[in-house]
Amino acid sequence: MATVSIPEVPAHIEAVARAARGYMPELEGEALYAKAYQALATANGPVLEIGTYCGKSACYLGAAALAQGRRCITIDHHRGSEEMQVGWEHHDASVVDPATQRIESLPEFRRTMERAGLESTVIAIVGDSLAVAELWSTPLAMVFIDGGHSESIALADYDAWAQWIAPGGVLALHDVFEDPADGGQGPFRVWQRAVEDGWVPLSTTGSLRCLTRAN
Ligand code: SAH
Ligand code: MG
Repeated sequence: MATVSIPEVPAHIEAVARAARGYMPELEGEALYAKAYQALATANGPVLEIGTYCGKSACYLGAAALAQGRRCITIDHHRGSEEMQVGWEHHDASVVDPATQRIESLPEFRRTMERAGLESTVIAIVGDSLAVAELWSTPLAMVFIDGGHSESIALADYDAWAQWIAPGGVLALHDVFEDPADGGQGPFRVWQRAVEDGWVPLSTTGSLRCLTRAN
């Protein structure tokens, strides 16, 4: 990957990201930004995220895209993953549509992007990631996988999306826990599969792991 000097995340975007609802610790968000910045400087295409939720990580990816006049695409059906449903560990009752009792994170995502000034940089696709992948044909500078975390869904996202990463680009995986005591093993299985497939580990920041594609 090209060595580039990476500016800080702009303060107003960082502030919005920190305040946003979601699952992206600051240090991991900053690492995500830095990797996206580097990937955009090295590889063609936009950055793509699977798992938008309320836009917390999209602030970091969007900040990198904005800095380089590029785009970030973010995909989510906005109905929540299994572990976010009522009664599960990551349920948040304030992201439930009172009319239907279903998770609805799109309005909050829209507010986050508006506050961050990223409405014209971050393009949301509302739908199932695999359904969107069936229609996809654009090379990507980076893919960040943070959607469904079960092994089968996480591997399916990897199979569907990693192939679109341009040479020199970055594959980023969230919630990678080597020790089952720390969390579910789906994303770690994806990391193992990616290494088997020849992806080269670049960095680990908390549960965020980045790999690059050999040319
Ligand atoms: N990146 C977010 C957190 C994502 S949580 C942050 O920074 O906070 C995981 C998200 O993935 C949920 O919003 C859920 O709706 C979405 N998701 C799960 N499975 C999906 C699928 N198959 N297609 C699209 N989105 C999915
Ligand atoms: Mg996550």
